[in-house]
Amino acid sequence: MVYFFSEEERKYLLKKLIPGSREKGIAEELRGWNWETTELSPPHEIFLTVWEVSGKYCETNRDVYLRHVQKVSVPPSEEMVAGRIYHQAVAELYPTAKRLIYTQGLDVCTNLADVLMERMPEAVLEAEQQMAHVGGTESATKEVVENLRKLWYFEVSRIVSSIYTYLGKYRYLSDDSLINHALPFVLEHKLDGRYLGLSSNLSADAINMGGMLICDLKTGKKRDFHRLSVAGYALVYESLYEVPINIGCTAYLSFPKNHPTPHIERDFFIISDEVRQWFIEERDEMQDMIFYDKDPGKCMSAGSCRYREYCR
Ligand code: SF4
Repeated sequence: MVYFFSEEERKYLLKKLIPGSREKGIAEELRGWNWETTELSPPHEIFLTVWEVSGKYCETNRDVYLRHVQKVSVPPSEEMVAGRIYHQAVAELYPTAKRLIYTQGLDVCTNLADVLMERMPEAVLEAEQQMAHVGGTESATKEVVENLRKLWYFEVSRIVSSIYTYLGKYRYLSDDSLINHALPFVLEHKLDGRYLGLSSNLSADAINMGGMLICDLKTGKKRDFHRLSVAGYALVYESLYEVPINIGCTAYLSFPKNHPTPHIERDFFIISDEVRQWFIEERDEMQDMIFYDKDPGKCMSAGSCRYREYCR
C-alpha cells in the first residue's frame, strides 16, 4: 500500500518528527480552528479546491483566472488521466478489502489476494476507456495499463501482508479490530472547506485516523509546492474537528523502467507555520484575482500547458 510506512519511516516519525513538531510548536493563529478570528478567514465568498490553491504549475495562476473568470474549460492531459487511474486503483482496492472483511467475515482473508485480483481486468478495461477518451496513443495506453497491473499486484500484496501480520499475531480478533490495526487509513476522505474559502466537497487522499496524519499521493515529478496540498487539508481538518494535524506526508508514486514494482518515495514533514502561511497567501491572492477580475498575465513559456491556446 502506497501509504504503509516502512519500519525506518515509522521510527523516524516516532523518534524525530512527532517530538520535533511538539518542540517547534505551531502558532495558534495558524491553527484551522481559529479561522473565524484570524487571517485564515477568507477575504471573499469564493470557493476554491485545494489542488487549485496548491497546484502552482502555472507561474502566474492564470489557469485559475481562466477557469473561474473566463469560464474556460479544457480536457485533462494524458498525464493527468494516467495519474487519476493510479489514484482510482489505490482508492478502490483498499476500501474493497475492508468491505469484504466486514461483509464476509475473517474467512475471506484466507484467499483475499485471489478475490482482490479478480477485480483487476475490470480496472484495466476502465483504464483503457479513460485513455481512449482523451485520445491517448496506443503506446501511452499500453504503458499505463502495464503500470496499473504492477500497482494492482503491489497493493494487493501489501494489503494482504498487513492483514496476515495481525491475523498471525492475535488469535481472537474481531473484523473491526483487524481493520483498525491492519488498514488504519481512510481514503478519499471528504471534507467541507468552506470556513477557509475552499470547496465543500474536498477529498483528502488518505488520513490515518490513529496518528492524525494526512497523506497526499503524487504521480508526477517532485516539486516544492506539493507540501501545500497537505497543509490545505490539515487546515480544513482542524477547522472542522478542532484537533491538531502536525505531520504531513507526500507519497510519490513512479514506475521506473525495467523495475518489477512501482517505486514509492515518501516525504514526511511538519506542517509548519511557513507552509500554512504560504497556503493562505496563495488562497488570498487567487480569491482577490477572481473577485476583482484581475488578469495576472501570461507566463514566459507555456510548454505543454493545456491552456496555452488561451494565453498566446
Ligand atoms: S499558458 Fe502559461 S500563463 Fe497560460 S495557463 Fe498555462 S502556464 Fe499559465
